[in-house]
Amino acid sequence: MGIVASVLKKFHGGVHPPGRKELSEQCAIESMPMPKRLVVPFHQHLGAPSEPVVNVGDTLFKGDLLGSAGDGISAPVHAPTSGTIVAIEEHVVGHPSGLTMLCAILEPDGKDQWNPQLQGVDDPFSLEPAAVRDLVKSAGVVGLGGATFPSFVKLSPPRDKVVDLLLINAVECEPYLTCDARLMEERPLDVVEGIRIMLHALQTKECVIGIENNKPKAIAAMQNAVAREASGKDGNIRVVVLPVMYPQGSEKQLIEVVTGRQVPSKGLPIHIGVVVHNVATAVAVRDAVRFGRPLVSRIVTVTGQGITRPANIEVLIGTLADDVIAHCGGLKPGTCKVVMGGPMMGLALHQTNIPIVKGSSGILALTQDESSGKPEHSCIRCGSCVSACPIQLVPCTMAWFAKTEQFDQLINVDLFDCVECGSCAYVCPSNVPLVHYFRYGKLALQSKAREEKKRELNKQRTKLRDERLAREKEEKERKKEEMKAKMAAKKKGKGTETHGSEAVSGEESRS
Ligand code: SF4
Ligand code: SF4
Repeated sequence: MGIVASVLKKFHGGVHPPGRKELSEQCAIESMPMPKRLVVPFHQHLGAPSEPVVNVGDTLFKGDLLGSAGDGISAPVHAPTSGTIVAIEEHVVGHPSGLTMLCAILEPDGKDQWNPQLQGVDDPFSLEPAAVRDLVKSAGVVGLGGATFPSFVKLSPPRDKVVDLLLINAVECEPYLTCDARLMEERPLDVVEGIRIMLHALQTKECVIGIENNKPKAIAAMQNAVAREASGKDGNIRVVVLPVMYPQGSEKQLIEVVTGRQVPSKGLPIHIGVVVHNVATAVAVRDAVRFGRPLVSRIVTVTGQGITRPANIEVLIGTLADDVIAHCGGLKPGTCKVVMGGPMMGLALHQTNIPIVKGSSGILALTQDESSGKPEHSCIRCGSCVSACPIQLVPCTMAWFAKTEQFDQLINVDLFDCVECGSCAYVCPSNVPLVHYFRYGKLALQSKAREEKKRELNKQRTKLRDERLAREKEEKERKKEEMKAKMAAKKKGKGTETHGSEAVSGEESRS
């Protein structure tokens, strides 16, 4: 059976936080009224930001380009609806530091009209794989599981690497979130079509869709769709049901469970022949290729005890979290925290007027009971965090080095291998906010690396300048010496001439 293990493996560590999916798992995907304005950041993916190609006053169709992809790893950004660009300005976005980012502010015209020139392909399998990848690239499709890595890159493995398996991440192991489960229940055939297109782009035949066993309806829907759509066609697509365990949706852990293989430290899944894509990304790929539609919306789960009406909503990119919360009846009294994403890896928001971006899977409104805002105590060296870590790191030591600003030591304890899954913080009896310390340590090391690079560059510039000055000085000296030698030779020449005439006159006189 190739790369897929006959018996599911178990990864190291992991935790079992309460699922809390019952709040929204029955809520069918709905749309929301057109917001008054959309705030679309030019940078919503991993890699270089997109370059703005629009000006204030431009009127656009839905799907028109707002920002073209930057150099290297990047993705373009498109207009989520038809309307007018009323500003291009800095706006606060979902970032731990409350950072602002350059955004296009779009005032919808209410028609929500796609650009009629956007054309899809009826038979994607007649295209060259490279042409499929180009369509995915120009549609701005990125990983919708939260990582936002441009999808065309993962669909373009290096020539010397063979892809044995396309692994579809439909695990959705973060508590509360149900957007992927609802997508599988409501659009299973679209998921399968997207997978077949991705298999064609990768030129591989094996695909596993990994789903945890707490989503029986999604499992049934996908099994039916696979039986109906994929049988008799190219490719071997299978649904694999997994036990519930957090963080099984983390790429490396999912690969280990399904294939029994471990991605080496600092290595990539492709190094062991696997490419992983999120299940919602498969649908975005299908929409891009079959209909020529760029990624301009995503499904967002709005949930938590603090929201009046939990929901799964298809939201236009750039819609403000405030508008989404208002559509769900607003926050209930007693809400103490709003989180963008899941409770384990999401970002606690300082303010809610931030836009939904391609990576926003959820908005959680949490009450005191649900949130982990308990006071921090000293570490008691219990080792629970070590047992919980799926990467086999030593979180308590890492946190200590970060807290005491011994940043160099953090390299030795593999801080950058940490995937910030939050399992360690979840089990910590002292409520040490371990992930905050890791993020602090990573930021400090990254800024130190930037400073060092700058210093090294300056050092090199100074060295080059000194070498140039030394060369110029040497050249000057050499010219001076040459001049001196010339002068001396001239002087000598004049002296010889005088003696010569004297000699001539002497001879003459002798004759
Ligand atoms: S957050 Fe990092 S250190 Fe903590 S369990 Fe996850 S990977 Fe390990
Ligand atoms: S779980 Fe918390 S208290 Fe226990 S060793 Fe880790 S950081 Fe310390």
